[in-house]
Amino acid sequence: MQKIKRKLLSIAASVAALVLCLCLFASCSGATSTHQHVFAPVEGLEATCTTAGHRSYEKCIYCGAMRANGVEVTEEDVVIPIDENNHVHVENVDEVVATCIGTGMQAYRHCTDCDTYFTWDYDETTQEALVIPIDPDGHMNMVSVAAQGNCYDGGVMAHRKCNDCGTLFTMDGEETTLAELAIAPGGEHDWSGDDPSVCVNGDAWKILLEGQEEIVDFGNQIAIKQHSLGGVSSSASGDSNYKQYFFNTMFTTDIMTFHTQDADEAGVDENGGWTYQRSTGSTFTRFTIADETDPAKTYVGRFMLVFDFTPASNIDVTRLGAKIVDGAGNLGDWGSTQSPLLGTTESTALSLSRNQTYRFVYDMNLTSDSNQFIQFWSQIGSATATISNVHVIYLDGGATSGNPSSQLVWFGAAEDSAFTADRCTHEWAVDGHCPSCGRDLSA
Ligand SMILES: [Zn+2]
Ligand SMILES: [Zn+2]
Ligand SMILES: [Zn+2]
Ligand SMILES: [Zn+2]
Ligand SMILES: [Zn+2]
Repeated sequence: MQKIKRKLLSIAASVAALVLCLCLFASCSGATSTHQHVFAPVEGLEATCTTAGHRSYEKCIYCGAMRANGVEVTEEDVVIPIDENNHVHVENVDEVVATCIGTGMQAYRHCTDCDTYFTWDYDETTQEALVIPIDPDGHMNMVSVAAQGNCYDGGVMAHRKCNDCGTLFTMDGEETTLAELAIAPGGEHDWSGDDPSVCVNGDAWKILLEGQEEIVDFGNQIAIKQHSLGGVSSSASGDSNYKQYFFNTMFTTDIMTFHTQDADEAGVDENGGWTYQRSTGSTFTRFTIADETDPAKTYVGRFMLVFDFTPASNIDVTRLGAKIVDGAGNLGDWGSTQSPLLGTTESTALSLSRNQTYRFVYDMNLTSDSNQFIQFWSQIGSATATISNVHVIYLDGGATSGNPSSQLVWFGAAEDSAFTADRCTHEWAVDGHCPSCGRDLSA
């Protein structure tokens, strides 16, 4: 009995010891030699420029004991010290060019962890070293300034100006001064430049009609006015004469008045150009020109009509140009005495380039002051364009009866419009006759 009791006690003690031991296992409170470690792998962590890493190792899930390659290790044994060359959070910043008023910055890379700067090729540098100094020639905000004043009254030649630093340039890009750009009031144009067809001061050019040079300048430029009434359409009143009524009334006060056919946006801009924005395919405007001596009367006779057309986008032309029509926009018998409009509908395909200024030169003849209008057509699809630089040069010897007539004398890039007769390419010749240089090409 005693013996049994002792044995039971012994078992009880063993159980107690086992329980204690299990308890120690579970709590892992410092006992390192008495339990069986259970190791779990811990993945390695690379060191960066601001944080230390460690090699991979195993760690006992109970007591935290560490082992690597089967050998017990400490945290100090596995630590990988900070690696000042391992920048893991690097932002790439594109170059900012220097201008005439502001510094720029080379393209660079920047570690957001340790705030180190690098060149694009990863050479360590500083923020200061990356700065590109102000570039005195870096004029990024250039504007063209049209000639102001003229050879007769004096003024300023057309030039270019940097809106940032105020530096002035000739149109050829040479740096200049306001004094050098000044046009002396000499009372006449200066044709002594390289191109005898263009005034040295840039305020006049010569255009050929039948071989005769006509001067196009401020003296024959016509101000464009915008009519304040909105769009007009032939169906607005249900009466086909509505347009005629509209146009007749608007010329009682304004001689050259532009507006769109429909209620599209249009306006006269600060340079005197008529800019219109078409949401659909076409528009027109109709105007008369004032008599040379009496601005209240409509001119009758022969004249040159010169105007510029600048599309704001690349366009394919359906119909573009001017003709003489009646107040309702009809040609009647007048079609055969007028050049076709440019574009696919009346002549040939024509594609025009964005922001290029094209010039039209017409030789026209109004034979009556009533019910004869110059109509400008613009069938260019949905686009924005500007009409500007309208000149009327009155010519002698025009017909004052019979059908009105109109001939396209020249069309092309505005800067090519001035040339001498020996440089004429006869591009607008009709039936062997060139209206520009006047030559008979059939011989
Ligand atoms: Zn352990
Ligand atoms: Zn770094
Ligand atoms: Zn500048
Ligand atoms: Zn001039
Ligand atoms: Zn010619």
